[in-house]
Amino acid sequence: MAGSGKMGAMSTIVFLHAHPDDESSSTAGTMARAAARGDRVILVVATGGECGEPAADPAPGETVSERRRRELERSAATLGVARVVSLGYHDSGMTGWVQNKAPEAFMNADLDEAGRKLADVLDEEDADALVGYDWHGNYGHPDHVMVHHVTWSGVEQAARRPRVLEVSINRDHQEEVVSMARLRGLEEGIHMPDPTMPGDDGNPIGSLASDLRWGVDVRGLVDVKKAAMRCHASQVTDIEGFTSLPPELFEATFGWEFYREPGVVGSLDVSWPFEGGPWPGTPSHCTCDLEGRGWPVRRNS
Ligand SMILES: [Zn+2]
Repeated sequence: MAGSGKMGAMSTIVFLHAHPDDESSSTAGTMARAAARGDRVILVVATGGECGEPAADPAPGETVSERRRRELERSAATLGVARVVSLGYHDSGMTGWVQNKAPEAFMNADLDEAGRKLADVLDEEDADALVGYDWHGNYGHPDHVMVHHVTWSGVEQAARRPRVLEVSINRDHQEEVVSMARLRGLEEGIHMPDPTMPGDDGNPIGSLASDLRWGVDVRGLVDVKKAAMRCHASQVTDIEGFTSLPPELFEATFGWEFYREPGVVGSLDVSWPFEGGPWPGTPSHCTCDLEGRGWPVRRNS
């Protein structure tokens, strides 16, 4: 048979994330739901999260990335992930940080080389679908933008091109959540991400609903998602900011996961994106402008 040998509910879905903990806040519900359905869920993480917060209680000699790797493994187990792969790059830090200049920083990686590492995983797994990030990684963190580009470089180099979805914050939805929070007086003293404020790259966060293809309802899995977040306990600022939201705000914010599907025409469909399969071919290139990532792109060829 041409194409995938895997049919129906049994698909292999690879999720590419920038840092340990990104999986817990952005795609955890989709991952847990896919795993529960019997799909093989693979988590690829580009960096060790070296620029994250040092643990308050480090073991003797324990590095930030060692702690975060252990936290990642616990989160992956919580979500039913079958395999965790690290691409081995260093965290680049936020835009303008001194770490941006480090040669081992993910943002400075050779794009073809990083894509080849991802393609090796796609080939080993004969992946049916790959989930990466939208064109600006939701909010412009250099490593998140790089995830977007490496996603497409990996697809180009894979023996069998998987279907590609890009996780994105639904700006329209998040604006509704913030309005709801204000209306009910829930936002006092808590960290509510304001979707109208520019992200790390100066662009508004995420995507408009009109640019999204899939909305996955994971409200029934918010406890699993919160448990995955709590596995990343060393990242106190982010994780406590999320997990301390009042339950109805947590559910409104994290109970939905939204995806773009470049090259696929259609309005936002609130259903499970991974029904059926094998799926028709995916476009070989992302439609975004590669130079738009804001720093020179390194390529071998
Ligand atoms: Zn991140």
